[in-house]
Amino acid sequence: MSLIRRIDLRGADPASVDYRASVPRAEFDVEAATHQVQPIIDAVRTRGVEAIVELSARFDGVDREDITVPPEALQKALAELDPDVRAALEESVRRLRATCEAELEHDVTSEVAPGATVTHRKVPIDRVGLYVPGGLAPLVSSVVMNVVPAQVAGVRSIALASPPQKNREGLPEPTIMAACALLGVDEVYAVGGAQAIAMFAHGAGPCRPVDLVTGPGNIYVAAAKRLVRGTVGIDSEAGTTEIAVLADDSADPAFVAADLISQAEHDPMAASVLVTDSLALADAVDVELDKQVFATRHTERIRTALGGPQSAIVLVDDVDQGVQVVDAYAAEHLEIQTRDAAAVAARVRNAGAIFVGPWAPVSLGDYAAGSNHVLPTAGCACHSSGLSVRAFTRSMHVVDYSQAALSEVAGHVVTLAEAEDLPGHGQAVSVRFGQ
Ligand code: NAD
Repeated sequence: MSLIRRIDLRGADPASVDYRASVPRAEFDVEAATHQVQPIIDAVRTRGVEAIVELSARFDGVDREDITVPPEALQKALAELDPDVRAALEESVRRLRATCEAELEHDVTSEVAPGATVTHRKVPIDRVGLYVPGGLAPLVSSVVMNVVPAQVAGVRSIALASPPQKNREGLPEPTIMAACALLGVDEVYAVGGAQAIAMFAHGAGPCRPVDLVTGPGNIYVAAAKRLVRGTVGIDSEAGTTEIAVLADDSADPAFVAADLISQAEHDPMAASVLVTDSLALADAVDVELDKQVFATRHTERIRTALGGPQSAIVLVDDVDQGVQVVDAYAAEHLEIQTRDAAAVAARVRNAGAIFVGPWAPVSLGDYAAGSNHVLPTAGCACHSSGLSVRAFTRSMHVVDYSQAALSEVAGHVVTLAEAEDLPGHGQAVSVRFGQ
């Protein structure tokens, strides 16, 4: 029996079949998780650190009163960091920083009439809360992905939270602490999951409320971000990982299977989806999955993810239909492993990030491509973007008119004010010209 189920969309006419409803999705979704997470948010909002300590005991098995990570612990972790891990982190930082610096937007001033200018001014967010997962795996790479764009954007105050670890005296994973020290982040909290997101949004003890929460996490973290949105800004719902691979018969089944496994490894709820017009490839990937899954370290987690309703091999008639299906799915990560992959990728509209051809696997992007790995999940890629410098900046219009410039347009303002039955608006202009 195959590890992963099949969905057959061959012959399905998009005029009569809703591809969005046909693509694989998890049964326990972010909306369902919000019901479990709301009491956590309420507890932290009303009882602060006391509630966080209780929740850390319940969810992380940790008994620690102090949620702050001491600066000495961060420096010690950096001093003890494996030199190879440090070198890899530094290269990851260098590549991402290059991308972020190139993306940095500058102020733009438009002169709309003589003496009349509007400047589109970019301002960094003042204070941000960055979440770094640490439940099933210590995602040290997520420190880089959060911190680097925030720093390049010019954010003044950066707080970071990651789950406390039972076997580490309730501190976060050492590699995560080391990466914080490497990047000069010194406000770090040993708090995980929804309680960390609530702490950032509402403040708790030593942690002042932030203006924006970013970062990836499991379904509870994504649900918490959904619930605090409005109280604070969020980047996107960067929840449980998913990969879609659009492949034809030119793809290497060993590569495709390895990439599906690489993301299933994150979480038993992770989604791995292959969309292909080649039955031969689908069969070969099944065989490869069987072979490769049992050779990995996290076999059970991967089997659960591949066997869940959120994962599937979807059969389509051709690559054109495949593009429609992956657009409907709006994957967090989308690989294109077809002939002429760059041209196919250019036609895709909905994805968190696209990986083109056989030499750009998603795990390259997870660590060291120079792209960001904090990406929208659960179909949110049709309206949200991955984390970037832009997420850490706001923009405002700055309007600067001379007397002559206002005089020139005054009549139009008064006319429109009258049309809206708001004469006071018109009068605020007329009064300046003695009328
Ligand atoms: P995590 O840090 O996201 O979550 C751990 C926390 O979850 C714990 O501290 C605990 O407080 C909370 N928790 C656990 N069970 C709970 C329950 N039943 N109710 C309420 N809270 C509970 O770490 P993780 O679990 O390893 O998950 C990391 C996730 O991040 C994975 O799902 C991975 O796919 C995802 N991820 C997403 C992206 C992205 O950009 N979308 C990137 C990297 C990783």
